[in-house]
Amino acid sequence: MTPSGPFAHLDGERRVIDSSQDSMVRPGQLPPLFQFSQNSLQDYADCRRRFQLRFIEGLRWPAARSEPIEEHEQFVNHGVDFHLLVQRHLLGIPIEKLAPVENPLAEWWDAYLHYPPPDLPTTLRLPEVQLSTPLAGYRLMAKFDLLAIDPGERAVIVDWKTSRKRPPRDQVLNRLQTHVYPYVLAEAGTHLFGRPIAPEQINLIYWFAAAPTDPEILPYSADRHAENRAYLEGLIGEILTIDDEIWPLVEDEFHCRYCEYRSLCDRGVRAGSLDEIDAAEEESDWDFEWDDVEEIAF
Ligand code: SF4
Repeated sequence: MTPSGPFAHLDGERRVIDSSQDSMVRPGQLPPLFQFSQNSLQDYADCRRRFQLRFIEGLRWPAARSEPIEEHEQFVNHGVDFHLLVQRHLLGIPIEKLAPVENPLAEWWDAYLHYPPPDLPTTLRLPEVQLSTPLAGYRLMAKFDLLAIDPGERAVIVDWKTSRKRPPRDQVLNRLQTHVYPYVLAEAGTHLFGRPIAPEQINLIYWFAAAPTDPEILPYSADRHAENRAYLEGLIGEILTIDDEIWPLVEDEFHCRYCEYRSLCDRGVRAGSLDEIDAAEEESDWDFEWDDVEEIAF
């Protein structure tokens, strides 16, 4: 199929592999019940060795991802706190009981209240929903910040972004999240929607605390869904075929500056500066932590 639409320019970067063709699938490499997610696939896309260390070897390396370390920790905590605040608000806790007083949380909260994502469905507002679907012999899961749904009509995925700068559109389009989220919702959201969801009934909105009036709104389509299926299946198929004792290290060492495994890989000792980090690295930094926050049962 000839790719079209706003994702067409990405195809040069995609490595679509037919995992059914003489691949040596060794599911024993991954932990039992392993589920792929946008985080793990993004790690693989950024650096195969990082995927191996984090998800196959289960290594949690205690190095800072950026410096100053205190500022880094504060940034991670603020991102998690903002998500918890919004979650509580969407679950019905009154605004007066939530209002944070310290910046940047107070500024983000103000932006959220005054410039929410536009034109959201009103019937269902479901914060922190996790869905998963089978793909390539595994499960692919997505943890949504917010699903807003008018059953049978339309569904909007909202993702809150608290990076200090709004990332450019091409960077947003390239993130694995942009592929995984609408794909999983289209495949696994039937019980929430009341019937199968056509891809055209899905929108993905990235809302930026740093630019609340300029959200990225990404409509989904059947063509994009087919492209995403091939792309994600290909990535998982590729992961299952790697047979190296040490998986390839990323060539572009920029990623290593913000990676906690850099000393293990002999890619430097000092963490990269928080001032030079790009929005995507910044988000992935705390996204990982946020996934560890205990879920509220849905
Ligand atoms: S330090 Fe660099 S090569 Fe090593 S896992 Fe991290 S990103 Fe990959």
